[in-house]
Amino acid sequence: MSDELKSMWFCPECCAWNGTQLRTCIKCKRDRPLVPVTVGGVPVGHSEDVTLRHRVRAKIDRLTE
Ligand SMILES: [Zn+2]
Repeated sequence: MSDELKSMWFCPECCAWNGTQLRTCIKCKRDRPLVPVTVGGVPVGHSEDVTLRHRVRAKIDRLTE
C-alpha cells in the first residue's frame, strides 16, 4: 500500500475513505476533520469495518506521536 493510500482519511459522517487531497468528503461533502483518522492509523482496510474504538485509538496515536 502506498503512503498516499495509507493517509486517506475517514469520513465519520458516511464511513467513506477520502483521498488526501480532498478537503471535503466525496460522498457527503462533510469537511475533513481537524485530526482525521487515516487508513494507516487503523488495523482494518475497509471503511465499514472501522469502529469508534479504532477511531479514538487512531486519534490518540496521532495526537501523541
Ligand atoms: Zn462523508
